[in-house]
Amino acid sequence: MCFGLFPSLRHAFLVMSLCLMVPSGLSWAASAREPLNIVVTIPVLKDLAEQVGGDHVRVTSLLSGYENEHTYSPKPSDLIAVRRARLLFEVGIGLEVWVSNLVKNAGSPSLSVITTSKGIGLVRDGHAHNGDHPEGEDNEQGNPHVWLDPENAVTMMRHITEALTQADPDHAQVYRQNQAAYLKRLDQLRTELVGRVRGLSDRRFIAHHPAWPYFARRFGFQIAGTIQSQSGSEPSALQIQNLIATIKKQKIKVVVSEIQLSQKLPDLLAKETGTRVVVLTTLPGGLPRTETYLDMLRYNVLQLANALEPA
Ligand SMILES: [Zn+2]
Repeated sequence: MCFGLFPSLRHAFLVMSLCLMVPSGLSWAASAREPLNIVVTIPVLKDLAEQVGGDHVRVTSLLSGYENEHTYSPKPSDLIAVRRARLLFEVGIGLEVWVSNLVKNAGSPSLSVITTSKGIGLVRDGHAHNGDHPEGEDNEQGNPHVWLDPENAVTMMRHITEALTQADPDHAQVYRQNQAAYLKRLDQLRTELVGRVRGLSDRRFIAHHPAWPYFARRFGFQIAGTIQSQSGSEPSALQIQNLIATIKKQKIKVVVSEIQLSQKLPDLLAKETGTRVVVLTTLPGGLPRTETYLDMLRYNVLQLANALEPA
């Protein structure tokens, strides 16, 4: 009916414009009732986005808790998920080197990519995840494991809430209320965990991979050495010898490993020195009782505290 005869070109143009407006108006109304499609790179962002968005969002995490964020390579289903999404949340800081190609291949003009680490003060310890550009300037970006400090998770959540209220202003008030309620719970948990660590006389540990500088700084732990200096790089026999000497000399009692890594070297150190190995997770869902960010935080702090000084 839009292609009838019109008395003038101007009239025809008006009617055609109306025809174009109606379907797009209808699809807008339909999409306002549909949950907002969101893709995130790692499970911690899924949890934070769901805490804010509730029923109004449908969140897909590209990585599950069991994969290693360094060595991940996207699956064909990831491309489909990104094509469907309005928002993509990433950590940034070179953690997800594979995201930019995925977004380029998806070629979706309505997709917004939000870097949730923006504004966080970074630890520059030489640990980078940008394996594609080892010589590049990105190497100076800083350690990407920011989310293991709850203060940084607050910043990340604020970016998420901001993006949700912009993409879906109808539910802006709900998003802000959800954020406020969550931040209260996060603050309570942080106070409780800081209290647990304060009671420890020895807070030193050896880390398997350098994932813990933000976590250690927030809770008052001390990293006395690291097995891998770069992600995925095996230490030499000499480096292992030096680590064993350090552990013995300084009487370090605990090695922190991660469920996403091989336990071979931590177990070797334990055998040689009598240290305890405690396996933690950098991603929610990596271990039982770590399904949410808050559960993961509690698990990591209490397991480590108990290994350092059994209660
Ligand atoms: Zn790392």
